[in-house]
Amino acid sequence: MERGEIRDYQATWFLVSRVTICSMTNKKIIIGNWKMAPSTMKEAKVTFNSIKKIASKLPNAQTIICPPFVYLSELKKTVSGNRCVLGAQDSFWDSKEKAHTGEVSPEMLSGLGIKYVILGHSEKRALGESDEIVNKKVNECLKEGLIVVLCVGESQRDEHGEYTKFIKKEIIDSLKKIQKKYLNNLMIAYEPIWAIGKSATRVASPEDALEVSILIKKVLAGMFNKDIAMKVPILYGGSVNPDNSKSFLTDGEMDGLLVGRASLDANKFGKILKIANQLN
Ligand code: PEP
Repeated sequence: MERGEIRDYQATWFLVSRVTICSMTNKKIIIGNWKMAPSTMKEAKVTFNSIKKIASKLPNAQTIICPPFVYLSELKKTVSGNRCVLGAQDSFWDSKEKAHTGEVSPEMLSGLGIKYVILGHSEKRALGESDEIVNKKVNECLKEGLIVVLCVGESQRDEHGEYTKFIKKEIIDSLKKIQKKYLNNLMIAYEPIWAIGKSATRVASPEDALEVSILIKKVLAGMFNKDIAMKVPILYGGSVNPDNSKSFLTDGEMDGLLVGRASLDANKFGKILKIANQLN
């Protein structure tokens, strides 16, 4: 699909449905990916409590914090209500008690009361995680009843739109043989690798995000159907901060945001949550 085609597509039926948010919730979904931080449980508790306090007053934002695995159990004890909940940053693809040293199963996560899981993050893919592995993880987590946040995104952009083919393949391969009945529990986060983290070469624009969200919906419509495509929430992630978050949610028409660095600063992340809360 070329860039021009994406724009043509936007001009047809997706444009008509611009007001559709997600079926899972009509709140904006703001996910904090803490990655391998903070260094201590004490800091994790302090940051989580500060975020929770802010989030508890925001009825129109769904806050999801994804800390390292080792903090999940302890932080889970402090969760009350649904406004600020926990997610995992990864999961293995086997739920049985088998020989998988160092892995955590979808069953363990759901047993702990964790509802969300990020899969296919570019930092995992950079360590060798293939679309095939991501596909197994997506399948197993959805079967376990977890809500999957599938990350996709290209490492660089080219003017001929080759990156759109890359994203299309990532989606198709990551969602191969997934049964339609599970897709109510799927979100897709568009995270262009060139816009993520400290090595970001530039910040994506809301138009960049909108264009790819249309592409994602087009691919989903082709794989499943239009109804499913319209219901899957699309999030943007990559150097989101309090200054640019509003434009991704309004001009970019995102259903939510996946926030890395800024989610470890309760003050900055709280500002993003408040902005999201005002938009419904
Ligand atoms: C991420 O890694 O998911 C991410 C969005 O990071 P950052 O916000 O720091 O660019």
